[in-house]
Amino acid sequence: MSETVRVRFAPSPTGEPHVGNVRTAIFTWLFAYVGNVRTAIFTWLFARRAGGSFVIRIEDTDQARTVEGAVEQILDSLRWLGLDWDEGPDVGGPYGPYIQSERLPRYREAVEELLADGHAYRCFCSPERLDQARKEKQRLKQPPGYDRACRDLGNAERQKLDKSGTVPVARFAMPRDGTTKLNDLIRGDVSFENALIDDFVILKSDGFPTYHLANVVDDHAMEISHVLRAEEWLPSTPRHVLIYRALGWEPPLFAHLPILLAPDRSKLSKRHGATSVLEYRKMGYLPEAMLNFLTLLGWSLDDHTEIMSRQQLTENFSIERVGKSGSIFNVEKLDWMNGQYIRSASPDRLAGALLEYWKAYPPPEIPDLPGEQQVLGIVPLIQERLKTLADASPLIQFLFKPEAKYDPAELVQKGMDLDRTRAGLEASLTSLEGLPAFDSETIEQALRSLADELGVKAGQLFGSLRIATTGQRVAPPLFQTMEVLGRERTLSSVRGAIARL
Ligand code: GLU
Repeated sequence: MSETVRVRFAPSPTGEPHVGNVRTAIFTWLFAYVGNVRTAIFTWLFARRAGGSFVIRIEDTDQARTVEGAVEQILDSLRWLGLDWDEGPDVGGPYGPYIQSERLPRYREAVEELLADGHAYRCFCSPERLDQARKEKQRLKQPPGYDRACRDLGNAERQKLDKSGTVPVARFAMPRDGTTKLNDLIRGDVSFENALIDDFVILKSDGFPTYHLANVVDDHAMEISHVLRAEEWLPSTPRHVLIYRALGWEPPLFAHLPILLAPDRSKLSKRHGATSVLEYRKMGYLPEAMLNFLTLLGWSLDDHTEIMSRQQLTENFSIERVGKSGSIFNVEKLDWMNGQYIRSASPDRLAGALLEYWKAYPPPEIPDLPGEQQVLGIVPLIQERLKTLADASPLIQFLFKPEAKYDPAELVQKGMDLDRTRAGLEASLTSLEGLPAFDSETIEQALRSLADELGVKAGQLFGSLRIATTGQRVAPPLFQTMEVLGRERTLSSVRGAIARL
């Protein structure tokens, strides 16, 4: 094993192509579920904390399930979260290629070696024969898996099959008894009964290796020091350890991350609304909130710190503080955290995030996107009111329309009538026209004393003015809105409202 930390994130760009078009397939593809991205985050944090290398490797040996376009989606999710990689399919590196389908000769070489040493054997069984054997094992209540028929073939029989033209698979010859032990950095000592693991396939008849073999060959060739991956891979690990041993290689260290649970403590899945990280992006979550939230699913700094910047996370992450038990994915907490991040963002950051979001998902309410300066001016209006970036465009759409659109009846507030509403708007117009300055404080003072003078509730007067200037019942704070609209536009909307009454 190498001295330095080299870790990898090894997604499989597979999906369920049958569930509709490719796009749907990509969005439902297993990797994209937040759980897999969390694996990427932990691996990245570990690399950055240790000053090591973070490697991306695409595991596309299951050709039938490989979905076109999925690799780009995977890389996009990581980029969005700001997880940068040192080596990978797009950037290359000294251990490439980083796509398994481009590394086939290496796997074949390893298989040849295992076959030659008797650690593997060729299996000629047809799917029908395997099916029969499986049923027979079920009947005898034996552990499932291959019945090893080809392992015990005599030489003559093997030669005959070799010549028969049937393309064999290669299977690993599991030890028939004993246990395989490993020390997991999170779960401690774990051991597995060899007899319960069948002689699994390492090379398929299409010439592609299986995950188990390719994973071992590549982690060794790429000098990976630590493997961080989801707990569901733990049962595969004894297989890997045995392949390492058979090839005379030292396995890396393993850390299996706790499973993600839904609030009802069942395994997190699509049915809980959990979806791909890019969907969360589309819903308007900030990447820094998502990174923080996902890191806390299984890791903690202490028993109370929740909001942590990227830098704090990379400075403090450690495998020792990754828990063993499942962590609950709670969307309400994500919402809360996203709100925290939005409210504490600098105006620059929030303006940048909004623009980036609108560019990626053009809002129908704002056909022509505003420039950065204009967005900076809008930010103070909405910063306190956003739960997600998606909330912004409906709130401020009036700014992008030549004039406010509404039903004039809406101008008349509860407890008011037409005449009093008109009088209020006319008095407001005079007051606003005469203001020495047109900033929110001056406007507020003037309109509050006006409401007193007129003997109407402030809310009634402001309600009419809100409709007049924005056409919306729900809008940013009135006085700031007027300031952003400017005197001229504010006055002309109030005049317009009076005319429409
Ligand atoms: N290709 C596997 C996956 O999709 C990687 C598992 C591992 O990290 O070994 O999750």
